[in-house]
Amino acid sequence: MHEMTILFHGYFMLKEMRKEWSFDMKLSFFGAAREVTGSCFCVEADGKRTLVDCGLQQGSNNGFGQAFPFHPGEINYAVITHAHIDHSGRLPLLVKQGFKGSIYATEPTCKLLEIMLRDSAHIQELEAMWASRKKKRAGDPASQPLYTMADAEQVFPLLVPCKYDEMIEIDDNKTIRFTDAGHLLGSAYVEMWVTEDDKTKKIVFSGDIGTSGHPTLRTPGFIEEADIVVMESTYGDRTHEHSFDTVTELAKVIENTLAKGGNVVCPSFAIGRTQDLLFHIREIKERGLVQSDPDFLVYLDSPLATAATRLYSGDLVKYLNEDTLSLLDSGIQPLSFDGLRIVETAEDSKRLNDDRTPKVIISSAGMCDAGRIRHHLKHNLWRQECSVVFTGFQALGTLGRTIVDGIVSSVSLFGEEIAIRCEIHNFRSMSTHADKGELFGWIEHFKKKPECVFVVHGEEETCRTFALILIERDYKAIAPKFSSIYDLKTCEAIFKGRDLLRRSDLERSERRESPVFQRLMLAGMRLVEVISRNKGGTNKDLAKFADQVDALSSKWDR
Ligand SMILES: [Zn+2]
Ligand SMILES: [Zn+2]
Repeated sequence: MHEMTILFHGYFMLKEMRKEWSFDMKLSFFGAAREVTGSCFCVEADGKRTLVDCGLQQGSNNGFGQAFPFHPGEINYAVITHAHIDHSGRLPLLVKQGFKGSIYATEPTCKLLEIMLRDSAHIQELEAMWASRKKKRAGDPASQPLYTMADAEQVFPLLVPCKYDEMIEIDDNKTIRFTDAGHLLGSAYVEMWVTEDDKTKKIVFSGDIGTSGHPTLRTPGFIEEADIVVMESTYGDRTHEHSFDTVTELAKVIENTLAKGGNVVCPSFAIGRTQDLLFHIREIKERGLVQSDPDFLVYLDSPLATAATRLYSGDLVKYLNEDTLSLLDSGIQPLSFDGLRIVETAEDSKRLNDDRTPKVIISSAGMCDAGRIRHHLKHNLWRQECSVVFTGFQALGTLGRTIVDGIVSSVSLFGEEIAIRCEIHNFRSMSTHADKGELFGWIEHFKKKPECVFVVHGEEETCRTFALILIERDYKAIAPKFSSIYDLKTCEAIFKGRDLLRRSDLERSERRESPVFQRLMLAGMRLVEVISRNKGGTNKDLAKFADQVDALSSKWDR
């Protein structure tokens, strides 16, 4: 997309928002709209703006990358449904760019965010450093990280830890309540009551909806009343294989792979899926299911996952389900076993690749788009005797998705082409997302059909299909587009948003635009908007403003 197109698209989008944002309640979709990652929604009521989730885009995205199509300084509050990075990962950027309000989340989410956002900042800094080295060699200016550790630290004083099931009054016209969503420790549905001109609307944000029967999490709750629902649809077109016995199947993969002399590599989300894997492996060891090598070694190679596991066994233990708590009561540590090795340093992580003893390696990131897992893939993907076990959703455009889809015979890692010869397993049964049937169960639990259901957090086809099925069941359902704005009185679009870019467009735009350039484009959009707001100003002011803009343009015109 041409830069000017982006500029004018952004300008009209902001102009439209500005024109309409001054009256009535609005709901805007700034992420996870016809895609899975980057959750970010905005409720506008009574002159205040509340952001619900502020997630990082992973894999393919809508072409704007991580830039916000609004000014963070104009957001009053933020509410976070859970700590996963696709719901929280842009908080440091939000604060860096001027947000000063409170951030509401459950107590466990606040604790997990402290380790999650530090880790994300570390990754951003590392990636910018690597990119800068490359650019330096090409004679280009250095890359700047999206945000730094110092930016992440600015988030924590703004966090307001909240209890589940309590009414929390944000201001005179806004109350929220968190209900356990059973998707991750601390995960929640957010009920939000907003009042304007003595009229109150209740909006429910599903965040990510959990699945029942999880080994350590509580069963997801339900909500019974809402005027408006914003619900996820990650697996809105799929049914999990509920009869799949994860422990037995995982044991088989470990047994077969170790017997061949290979490694079992598990790319895993550091928070949630890693602890689930540890829980299952403890059971495998306890039941002696890997007979050929019952004392097999398991390396946990992710500082973030290690920190999260400590939280699970420490401060957050009271949020685990009753079965897990009774294990603890009987003296069993649910996430610990003989043969578990914690890998602390990057050097130790690299050393693992020289050690030929067959082993299990759990490492992150879960979608393989960053982190130590990429080194393990480089050293194991090409070995026939090894196995890679995926346990979570892989977003479009991530390395994990490319491998799971099985459409390529090799992948590029650290500038090297690596053949895929090992066994690839995808344990969808370990998903902590509700499947199609559970999503219906969740929406049908509302006593009265909501006025409108906005279907988000699903790939384009999934969102549309799930919305259509809801329409067939007499719901008013919409799969909103990126940057769309809806009037909450009528549920009609004020601004319809725009289509996601095609991959070819995205690749072109990624080649051309660095994050800093995107920031400059947004600054340009803001300038055009400020100009429009000065319409009707005195001749003297307008002339002064014009002189300053002209001077700035002359200075930078190349
Ligand atoms: Zn999640
Ligand atoms: Zn999510």
